[in-house]
Formats: sequence, structure tokens, C-alpha cells
Amino acid sequence: MTAAREIAADLAQLRVSIANVYFAGNRNGWALIDTGVPGYTASIIEAAYARFGEGSRPSAILLTHGHFDHAGCALELGRYWNVPVFAHPLEFPYLTGKSAYPRKDPTVGGAMAFLSRFFPSRTANVGDVLTDLPQNGEVPGLKDWMWIATPGHAPGHVSFWRERDATLVAGDAVATADLDSWFGLTTMHRVISRPPSPFTFNWDAARASVKALADLQPFVLASGHGEPMYGPRVADELSRFARTFTPPEHGRYVAEPAETNEHGVVYEPPAPADHLPKVAAGVVAGVFVLAGVIYGKKVRARSAAADKQ
Ligand SMILES: [Zn+2]
Ligand SMILES: [Zn+2]
Repeated sequence: MTAAREIAADLAQLRVSIANVYFAGNRNGWALIDTGVPGYTASIIEAAYARFGEGSRPSAILLTHGHFDHAGCALELGRYWNVPVFAHPLEFPYLTGKSAYPRKDPTVGGAMAFLSRFFPSRTANVGDVLTDLPQNGEVPGLKDWMWIATPGHAPGHVSFWRERDATLVAGDAVATADLDSWFGLTTMHRVISRPPSPFTFNWDAARASVKALADLQPFVLASGHGEPMYGPRVADELSRFARTFTPPEHGRYVAEPAETNEHGVVYEPPAPADHLPKVAAGVVAGVFVLAGVIYGKKVRARSAAADKQ
């Protein structure tokens, strides 16, 4: 059975594939934060019923942002429960099919960058259930939470904050696993890390957002990727991370961000040379040459043996 894991009062985490979704609230009223990658609708419903009771439905579905690993099941869940899906208006162009996100940047390097080559460039279209978050920071369906704009990883990225017990659901504004390393990606070893690099289009904004979240001094840090962190040291670790925040060494958006507005992407810096396909082609060619050499030697040896007879 699919069950979410309680990580704070009235907050539970469910990992679906590479991403986390969170159930916030209790049987008297709850909301779903993020919806994972496509194909997990049934698992999320099952976990919701296990936590809140069979047939229970949320007051709202909330998206930290619209990337495919957060909005993947949003349309199906919104329709199934007949509830609106809330996101920041600056995410609307991507969630309604009007614009693609700034192009992913596999040249940024690292594990996630390699895998990103196999991820879709467009996200889910959730147009018919999409609604904008209230401008005053209130969170539909969750009285004691507020949303905070944390752009940089995505144009309309938001984080969710519950001041009462300093609980932060940070989406991809910050990760709690090093997604740039294969070790981090496979073990999800807890360490505060920058947003998923190949999808982050504005590193200055991403840094400012991390700083804003560090200033909140969270006790619980629950991100879109990685296992949640909690305890008195989280605030210090996040502050240290914010102070020493560094973008990747190179990549499409490191020197210059993409520009976006309410209609979508308006400018992308030119793509750096992507050497991996050439390297891969080189490796394949190398294997063929090697095979040719070995096979050729065998053929020559065989014909030499035949000559002697
Ligand atoms: Zn993302
Ligand atoms: Zn993500």
C-alpha cells in the first residue's frame, strides 16, 4: 500500500519516482502540494485515502511550480477530485501550453544534467483546472500557511511556509540532496543543495530566493527532491548554504539568465557547445574500430592458418 510519511504536524511526504509530493492539513481540511511525475495519480489517491479516509478530497491542489515532475498528475487529480490547481500566474504560460519553459541545459554538467536529456521539454497542460494563487499570500485550503515567491529555478516558483512551527515546503527553490552527483541522486543522502541545475534559468534570482528562505530560519525543510530535513541545525545549515551559494561553474544560464514574462519565454542566451553527443559518438566509433581491429586480426589469423595448410 502507498503511504505518506509524517514529517511534521499535519504534513506528510510521499515520494513518487524522483520527486516528493506533500499532504498538508488533516481530516478536517487538507491540500496536496505538488503532484509528482506523470503516471502516479492512483498512488497519490491511495496515499490520500490512507491518510485522510476513503473518499476524502482536498480543498486545493497547490503547485510550487509547473515542471513535469511537479505538475505531472495535476490535471488528472484536479479532475478526479474536482478541485482547482493553484499556481503562480507566471507559471501559467507553461501549464497551458502557450510557451515551453526556458530550454533545459544539459551542458551544466552532473548527474541530473545527464538524465535531463531524457526528460520531456514541455510540461503537463493543466489549463482547464488551473487557478491563480491569491495575491495576498494566503494559501487556499490551508489557513495557517502562506506562499512566498521564490523565482529563479522557475519563473513563478513559490514556496509554502507555516510560521507557527517554522515548517517550509520549498519545492525546487532548494534541494535536500545533491542532484548533480550520482551518489546524491541514487542515495538521496541529506545535504542542502542548489535547485536542480539543468532546469534553473536564472541563478541570481535562485540565489536571492535561497537567501529569502534562509531568513525564515526553518525548523523543517521539505523540498521537491531529497528527504526532508528537520531539527535545530537546519536553519544554520540553510543560512550557511545561502551565504556560500554558488551557481554551477558553467552552463547556458550561468552568465546570463533567460528572460520570461506573463506570456512565457522572451529571450534565451545562446546554447553552449554540447560535447556529450560528440563524445558518445566518439565512444561508439571507438568501439566499432576496436571491434574491427580484433575481428580483422582474427580473420587475418584464420587466413594465415589456412595459407599454411
Ligand atoms: Zn523544477
Ligand atoms: Zn523538480
